[in-house]
Amino acid sequence: MDIILTETNKGKRSLVCDSFRYRVDKTLKGEEISWRCTAKGCKARLRTDCTGTVIIQQKNTHNHDTSDRDNERHLLRAKPGGRKIQKVGLSQQYKELDSDISKWLKGIFGIAFLAPDEVADCFVEDFMAVVPNDKPCIEFADYLTDTYINR
Ligand SMILES: [Zn+2]
Repeated sequence: MDIILTETNKGKRSLVCDSFRYRVDKTLKGEEISWRCTAKGCKARLRTDCTGTVIIQQKNTHNHDTSDRDNERHLLRAKPGGRKIQKVGLSQQYKELDSDISKWLKGIFGIAFLAPDEVADCFVEDFMAVVPNDKPCIEFADYLTDTYINR
């Protein structure tokens, strides 16, 4: 089960597990964290260790489908790369549905769901070969290379 730790708009801790998003419900004695699904009326809960990376207990099932679109938007904001997209002026292209640049950017954001060791290979093979010939994209690709590959 993959866990992605992010932040909410307000800087609170948030967690994405199996494409469901959770926010901190409360911190429990023994330094465990109780998380609740962010969907309205959903009773699904997770309990993790204090780092939020080890699931100790899972309670209740979700009463809804995963919200990949929402998570995608959320990750775009939360990832360092998301801020970079905005900075180099690519956020408009990211939102366009059918442009090559948009597809490329969205593909790149799939790497948010991969483990760090998997990122470099996949990234190099699939994306660096097809960087759109567009200045902001090249700048963004350089940034990602520095962030994920030349670590
Ligand atoms: Zn839920």
